[in-house]
This record gives sequence, C-alpha cells and structure tokens, in this order.
Amino acid sequence: SDLLDGQTAVVTGGSSGIGRAICLAFAEEGADVVVADVREDSRDPDEDRTTAEVIESETERSAMFVDCDVSDPTRTKAAVEAAEEYGGVTCMVNNAGIFRGEEFTEVSETQFQELMNVNVKGTFFGAQAAAEKMVAGDGGTIINLSSVAGLEGSAGFATYCASKGAVRLLTYSLAAELGPAGVRVNAIHPGIIDTSMTTEDVPIVGAESGEEFLEDVPSGRFGDPGDIADAAVYLASDMGDYVNGESLTVDGGMTNT
Ligand code: NAD
Repeated sequence: SDLLDGQTAVVTGGSSGIGRAICLAFAEEGADVVVADVREDSRDPDEDRTTAEVIESETERSAMFVDCDVSDPTRTKAAVEAAEEYGGVTCMVNNAGIFRGEEFTEVSETQFQELMNVNVKGTFFGAQAAAEKMVAGDGGTIINLSSVAGLEGSAGFATYCASKGAVRLLTYSLAAELGPAGVRVNAIHPGIIDTSMTTEDVPIVGAESGEEFLEDVPSGRFGDPGDIADAAVYLASDMGDYVNGESLTVDGGMTNT
C-alpha cells in the first residue's frame, strides 16, 4: 500500500535486523530510503543481498547506502544530507545500536563509552541532523529505537539499560521542543526480537536461556523484525498523526504482565 507515499526515510543500522525490516517496509509503503550503517552487507547470515539491492529490485522505490558510524555526528549529518537526492528527509529512524551483557563491576570506561557513543550520542545527533532539516522545512517524524530495557532495569545490562533509558527521555524532550515545528518524535521499545543481536551478541533466541525469557512473553514467541517495522510504519504515517512523545512497547506483553 502507500501509507508513506512521497516520504524519504533515513534509517541508521539499516543493513541488518530491525533496521533492515524497517527499510523494506518503508519502501513497500512508498518511501525512498537512505540506509546508513557501518557495514553495507547484512549481519544476518541468510541474507545475501544488501538492503538497497532488495529495495531497488523488489519495490518501486529508490534506495542508497551511506557509510555511517552514528557515533560520528558528521556521518549522520552526511546521511541526512544524502536524502536531499530524494527530496529531503521526512522520517529519521535512529535504530543503530549495540547490546552487551556484562557484570556491572567489570565494565571498563572504554566499554561504557563505546556503547553510549552509539546508542545515545548516535541517536542524539542523528535526531539533531534530521531536526535541522525538518524544522526549516515541512516538519517530519523521528523514531528512536529504545528497548524494554529502557523501561525496566535488568541485572547484567546496566550500560545498555542506562543507554536505552536515556533514549526514552531524549525522545520525550524532543517531542516537547520540536512538536510546535511540526516534528513528531516517538520511541519504539522492542521486546526480544530475533536478530543477530539476540542470536549472536547476547544469545537468547535459540539458546537455552531463551526458554526462560519466553515464559515471560504472553504471546508465546519472540518477535520478528517485521513486528517492529509495522510499528515504525504506523508512527511514520498519518495514522500516527496525533502520537507524539510516546513510548510504543512492542514486546508480546512481556513488560506489562
Ligand atoms: P543488529 O545487530 O541485528 O543490527 C544492527 C545494525 O546496526 C547492524 O547492521 C550494524 O552494522 C549497525 N550498527 C551497529 N553499530 C553501528 C554504528 N555505530 N553506526 C551505524 N550502524 C551501526 O541489531 P537489531 O536487533 O536489529 O537492533 C536494532 C535496534 O533495536 C538497536 O538499537 C537495538 O538496541 C534495538 N533493540 C533490539 C532488540 C532485539 O531483541 N533485537 C530489542 C530491543 C531493542
């Protein structure tokens, strides 16, 4: 269908997992897409085409890859600038993130900075680069990927939870500041989604420990990247026109039950 007809999206971390699903769903709904990532190929072993290749060959829309480490604000700015080729950014998805399990007392300053630079600084300056364009233009939407770990604390994940909690309040603050200029800013809080992040970085999906997690999910399954992409389409489209400064939890019921 055409829920995002005429839009131009910039999606950080768009080469793999949730970001990739968002890129594909957005293109299917009529948006041109800038895929901004540190790698062009997917982390997912069963994907042998890049996100842009799939969009160009299977949808009517255009897509390009921009080499972008979100922890460098000049690169997120370059990704937003690249969207000018498609008429300028209307939706910024700050999705790039890293996930690590750790014992709190073992976390080094370097590890802390590395994670914060991607999850928090990357989201902050990605939003800033997009906001600059949107405020000067016709407005737009910003979607930040937080997590259920941005709603609740969790033993063994202090840095990650701190980063995702920061993304949540950043989102609310930007909604307050940018709303009057026609920019809606929302956060998505995924539960456990089947991506390389949860199969490789912190093995949960398909791992033995996963069974325990699954008992806490009323829907009885882990999420697919497409579950999160559907939420992003809703927030980016006119269906979400009165949704602003919201935390949209998409977790099969895990958090509130
Ligand atoms: P993923 O690891 O499968 O994909 C992440 C993508 O981001 C990769 O293509 C990677 O190359 C890219 N990336 C990593 N660092 C980057 C950087 N510095 N600059 C640009 N790109 C970078 O992860 P995912 O599961 O798709 O997660 C996407 C987002 O959703 C993250 O913010 C994550 O924290 C959040 N999230 C995921 C889950 C889950 O269960 N998978 C749950 C809650 C929140």
